[in-house]
Amino acid sequence: MNQENPVHGLFEENPDDLRAACYQGTDAYQKNEGYHTRTGSSIGDTGEVIPTDRPRARVLLVYPDYTERDRSPVSTGGNYSEGLASISAVLKQAGHQVELLHLLYVHKEADFKKKLQTKGAFDVIGFSIRTTAFIDCKEYIKWTKEVYPDTFITCGSYHVTLLPDEVLSVDGADCVCVGDGEYATLELCEKLMAGEDHTNIESMYFKMPDGTFKHNPIRPVFEDLERLPIPDFELFDYNNLSASKMNTAIVMMSRGCLFSCTYCGNSQFRNVYPNRKKFARFRSPENGILYLKTLLQKYPYLQYLNFRDAIFNMYPDWFDAFIALYKKEINLPFTCNVRFDVLTEDTVRKMAEAGCYTIDVGVESGDEEIRTKYLRRLMTDQQMINACEWFHKYNVMVLTYNIVGLPHEDLHKALKTVKLNAKLKSDRIIPNIFYPYPMTVLHDIAKQAGFLPDVISPDCKVPLKQKQFPEHHVLFVADYFMFFVKRYKRLKKWPKFLQNARENWLDFWFTGPLTPRRTLVFLYTIKAGITKNLKSFLRNHCPAFYLKLRNRRLKK
Ligand code: SF4
Repeated sequence: MNQENPVHGLFEENPDDLRAACYQGTDAYQKNEGYHTRTGSSIGDTGEVIPTDRPRARVLLVYPDYTERDRSPVSTGGNYSEGLASISAVLKQAGHQVELLHLLYVHKEADFKKKLQTKGAFDVIGFSIRTTAFIDCKEYIKWTKEVYPDTFITCGSYHVTLLPDEVLSVDGADCVCVGDGEYATLELCEKLMAGEDHTNIESMYFKMPDGTFKHNPIRPVFEDLERLPIPDFELFDYNNLSASKMNTAIVMMSRGCLFSCTYCGNSQFRNVYPNRKKFARFRSPENGILYLKTLLQKYPYLQYLNFRDAIFNMYPDWFDAFIALYKKEINLPFTCNVRFDVLTEDTVRKMAEAGCYTIDVGVESGDEEIRTKYLRRLMTDQQMINACEWFHKYNVMVLTYNIVGLPHEDLHKALKTVKLNAKLKSDRIIPNIFYPYPMTVLHDIAKQAGFLPDVISPDCKVPLKQKQFPEHHVLFVADYFMFFVKRYKRLKKWPKFLQNARENWLDFWFTGPLTPRRTLVFLYTIKAGITKNLKSFLRNHCPAFYLKLRNRRLKK
């Protein structure tokens, strides 16, 4: 019996139980906590059970989980990653041991090495690399090899899928995984532990002894997600995650996205697969409910669910079936991402009845030319306005995502985005500053237009250099976005004869030459710093109070 895994061996009596459970989400599977299995059996991505008597691998997954260049230690928080939890579940199902090194801030060498050594020695160390943390990962990988020269280092996740050779060329990296990593990583562990040739594993590129790269074909995406075990939530310090402290769980029912927005990695990820038409896929509604029940059984304090699927209403038939089942079986308040152009009032009503309290939706730009020509988001202002009216009618809060600093944008075009948000009566707004993710269409558009510097500094807040939309203009729009939306929203409360004058004054304030934008940005930075620290303090030290405040805001 494995001391670290008390349910290890539960399927010893009948290994077929495990396989059946993985496919169909049976009670046996649920009862046995989802992902543990007897030592010595693996399930490949074609569903075959591979009996082995090989030693099991010790695997460490390293997760740099930060977006800001903060170097001060953070002791709590962090985000759940479905991809890592899923890889861990598949590996543990085959009896391998998996641990997580969750990095919540940019680590210096001594700090990183100390944490690595505290974790102990591993056969395989896997790095999850996102574009904005790639610069740090280069160092982490190098330091890892210095501490454990014989450990095999693999890398995966978004940045690797888009730029595999760039990552493989990092000193210390032995291989990279392109696309979904569960079964490629499993095969890697199996072959490494058996001492077999591992350099022919599909979906993996290897650095060969002579320094050349070996590119293997990419395995097709597995279409039915219920083939995957329920994610290994326990990989994380789950109770201490930022969302958990708010009694909220981050969950995902799908992989991929149907759409092709030019700025988004999802539109490119699908191109790596031979069967790319199958890229956007969901667990069956029943299996999705099993996933949620397993999670809620483990963490009964969870009161809210946050579905982080790219677009939750991507397939209307799936969505309707899931929502009906969710209402019956789970019935907890939830939030999710949706697209305006695949919504009907009936769907919105069903969502509200099932407990949806907020939707997150991309507006991105209020300028129709930018939206259609550059972002490839073919939806009209009126479509968005109609959908938002339905959400307001059914008391669902609307959180909109917007992008500022897009190629060819200027203050006047950004103002259209602000005004559209006012028309949508958005309750909460996130104005993201555009980041040109490599290999995306919009990255290339920016490059061809000469807006992209040769190197984007990790500390840079506005990546594009555009004469018509300089950095302090972009920061001003991002910082004061909500401020202006509120004022445009309130225009209707002004006496009719003053509304035009007030609107002209706001337009002038936003776009005119006399606005002291640099000073305003400076003042905002100070205010934002204080607010961020206060929020972080409340979330980490008085979560109940923070939750109370948040809920009061939601009710308003
Ligand atoms: S709909 Fe969202 S997830 Fe899908 S491609 Fe567009 S931005 Fe990306």
